[in-house]
Amino acid sequence: MSTTDDRTHHDARLSEGCEALGLELTPEARDRFHLLRELLYQANAVVNLTRVPETDFVELHCLDSLLVCRAIDMRRVRTVMDLGCGAGFPGIPLKIMWPHLRVVLVDSTLKKLRFAEDACTKLGLSGIRTVHGRAEERIVELTYRSDLVVARAVAPMVRLVPWMAPYVKPGGRAVAYKGADVTDEMREAADVFTRCPLELEGAVAATLPGSAIIRNLVTLRRPAASAGAATRTKR
Ligand code: SAH
Repeated sequence: MSTTDDRTHHDARLSEGCEALGLELTPEARDRFHLLRELLYQANAVVNLTRVPETDFVELHCLDSLLVCRAIDMRRVRTVMDLGCGAGFPGIPLKIMWPHLRVVLVDSTLKKLRFAEDACTKLGLSGIRTVHGRAEERIVELTYRSDLVVARAVAPMVRLVPWMAPYVKPGGRAVAYKGADVTDEMREAADVFTRCPLELEGAVAATLPGSAIIRNLVTLRRPAASAGAATRTKR
């Protein structure tokens, strides 16, 4: 159980980090991030959900998830799919910060997904649902494509891009949260980009507030006009 001092320290880092990202942290969002930390680390003592230590929760789970705002204007996004969400990252922080979002959390590991579902209920988040299964097995009906598909620490681009592609709406985007050096992964995936309905827009490098960690947000877009091509790739 965390102490008041812990909470004050975490809250201060979260506020500063949000400010650095140009995001307004409402009291509701701050309370939800706090409760999420408590729920995650209580559960993590029993079931293995995350390797990120509690002391790094603010930077490595919350602010890292929110970093997507460096690449995407989240106010214009309505629907998000988090593919390989694990215990709910980045999907839950995105929903906390931008409550208007409708979010689908997908993961093949049931114990992690159950935690995410239970946490959403306890956080009072509505408009968020969980789907258990493997992305490549088309677990979400393709009539339900998202404006934005996100994935953090799930797979190398060569596998991830084909997993994400079917779930992106025409005109929508996919963002893969990657580390400082993506050169090898991008080279390995070069062939995949020529065969899938997503176009590579680029990699936005961003520094994680409160740390020296560099992230690359690899952004892909499904052209609005490629609905025909998208249909062909469905089989
Ligand atoms: N995105 C979370 C979890 C990363 S661990 C975070 O950043 O904290 C990778 C997660 O991806 C695991 O929970 C694993 O179960 C899930 N995963 C891996 N391959 C998958 C697939 N093909 N379909 C769905 N989930 C997958």
